[in-house]
Amino acid sequence: MIYLCAISNISSGSCSEDCSFCTQSARYHVDIEKYKQKSIEQIVEEAKAARKNRALGFCLVTAGKGMTPSKLEYVTTAARAVKEAVPELNIIACNGTASYEDMIALKEAGIRSYNHNLEASENYYKDICSTHEWKERYKTCLNAKKAGLKLISGGIFGMGESEEDRVSMINSLKELQPVSITINFFHPNSALPLKTNPLNIEESLKLINNVKNELSNSRIMVAGGRERMFGKRWTEIFDHGANSIVIGDYLTTSGESPSKDLAVIESLGLEIAEKCNGQ
Ligand code: SF4
Repeated sequence: MIYLCAISNISSGSCSEDCSFCTQSARYHVDIEKYKQKSIEQIVEEAKAARKNRALGFCLVTAGKGMTPSKLEYVTTAARAVKEAVPELNIIACNGTASYEDMIALKEAGIRSYNHNLEASENYYKDICSTHEWKERYKTCLNAKKAGLKLISGGIFGMGESEEDRVSMINSLKELQPVSITINFFHPNSALPLKTNPLNIEESLKLINNVKNELSNSRIMVAGGRERMFGKRWTEIFDHGANSIVIGDYLTTSGESPSKDLAVIESLGLEIAEKCNGQ
């Protein structure tokens, strides 16, 4: 059973943080589309299209370190509008570090899950971000769980981390036991401080396998970097433990066209999930 999720970048770019893997940091002047707030009408249209493309999850993502009162107001307004227009979608919020109280407000607006990635190990995070601490990320994951939201968390592989860092990040995820793990493969950009991703396909497939073995109760989603890392071999991710993908575009990079992905999944005889089954 394959679970599909779509992303809407509802507030893009101009972030003051210095995460060296992120094209939305204002410090690196990456040529991406920037806007403060996507219109609610556009978000609802995207939600309808996501469901048409058989996505079950619809993720409202905002750039920036974390939640603010105005962001909370915007995200909850968007969530209520999506819930009314497309009630079958599970709405996910992804708005950076957030308090327990923020999580409660998100839940009351009909949001079911919170996505907050650890991104890297606690130790390596210091090398890739100097403006906030990994501990805040971990705490945000705990806040989501405490508020009764379903936690989605994971990280990015291929940012120059060591094997030890990978083990450490996976151990932290084991403590958190997210319902779904997001695995991203770093997408290099010459404007970023991190310029390359040293991983190859075989190594990346092994990493997916490893995450699945260590977190056997979680859904395993391959998100950003899927097309770039695996090319035509992307369906091999399903043989290595993945059972979920992002369909459509990512935050600042384009994805495969949903109809192509759907056709490939169906040609493999894999079933596309129509319900979340508690996860
Ligand atoms: S806080 Fe988020 S949006 Fe800002 S630079 Fe870091 S990853 Fe990018």
